[in-house]
Amino acid sequence: MSAIVKCWTFASSSGRGRYQTLLYADGSTSCDCPGWCKRTAADGTRSCKHTRAVLMGTANRECESMHDYGGAVAPSSRAAPLPPARAAGQFGQIGRRRIHT
Ligand SMILES: [Zn+2]
Repeated sequence: MSAIVKCWTFASSSGRGRYQTLLYADGSTSCDCPGWCKRTAADGTRSCKHTRAVLMGTANRECESMHDYGGAVAPSSRAAPLPPARAAGQFGQIGRRRIHT
């Protein structure tokens, strides 16, 4: 079980109750709406309009409220930082070019 990174609260489309959609540190999502509980894809993953909104980045606009727990999402999906030696080398080249021109 991985840590919860963000939590969105959506109003149900029937107007009764609210659903909570969670984003975990490993990039997976879950929801407590009936759609998420009923639908299971062939590969065992579940989805609903709420988790899809989270994955498409539209959840912040569609939700009633959002809570950011400040965690990092799936380290593998983040761009690797430039190694310090290489960054210094690039700055060095830019510096030399400015001196010569
Ligand atoms: Zn849902």
